[in-house]
Amino acid sequence: MQKIKILDIPFDNITKKEAPELAFSRISAKKKTVVVTPNAEIAQMCAEDENIKKVVCSADMILPDGEGVVLASKKLGTPLFEKVAGVEFGMDCVSLAAERGYSLFLLGGKEGVAEKAASELCSHFPALRIAGVRNGYFDRDSKENEHVLNQINKSGADILFVCLGAPTQEKWAAENRDKLSPLLICCLGGSLDIYSGNVKRAPKLFIKLRLEWFWRLLKEPTRIGRMMNLPKFLHSVNKYKKLQKRGTKC
Ligand code: UDP
Repeated sequence: MQKIKILDIPFDNITKKEAPELAFSRISAKKKTVVVTPNAEIAQMCAEDENIKKVVCSADMILPDGEGVVLASKKLGTPLFEKVAGVEFGMDCVSLAAERGYSLFLLGGKEGVAEKAASELCSHFPALRIAGVRNGYFDRDSKENEHVLNQINKSGADILFVCLGAPTQEKWAAENRDKLSPLLICCLGGSLDIYSGNVKRAPKLFIKLRLEWFWRLLKEPTRIGRMMNLPKFLHSVNKYKKLQKRGTKC
């Protein structure tokens, strides 16, 4: 797999179609796989925090979830094929899981969201096996974390969606990967809110015009603070490009 480095994060240069196939080929090969889907906001968090960067870079698959990341790859002269949105990657994994008989555990969201997502997904994919669900509000530093790990492992799930928001989910997946028995662990942010139907994705026109971020801002104005990471990200990319030119970055 060709890797393209943006702010030191080695993104997989892979298409939307290939990404779920690669993930499933790793399940068949019994290779534990953590998938993360950083967008520009998360990439900027990594630029500002070495620990977050370490956690993100420790994942086995790093998919570019965002036009900002794709734009940066072009700016740096190493273009990525395309954006691979986590929410779409997750849905493709659900479809493949239903087709190939793998079971799925949904972790994350407020009380009731994972249940609702499970029932919506099952109505679209009647063959889908849901091994279990759990909300994402638990004390990750106490015994409660062990209970959650036990619940997931006992469910016998092959695939786990971890939807706790970034960077919590990436940290949790990295810390617990060796204790978890599902072979495929996908960190998918707010995807359960979307699968449950509680939150609507941007209309197709916004997605086509690469303005999904703007739609999210209109719907959730409180995201403005987080979104300030976008201009910061572009600034970081410009700095990174200069360092590359000087030969201090590869
Ligand atoms: N969430 C959770 N546990 C927490 C904090 C957040 O399960 O301790 C969930 C929250 O309910 C929401 C998701 O994580 O469903 C974060 O969604 P967001 O769209 O903010 O994801 P991001 O943009 O960070 O990927």
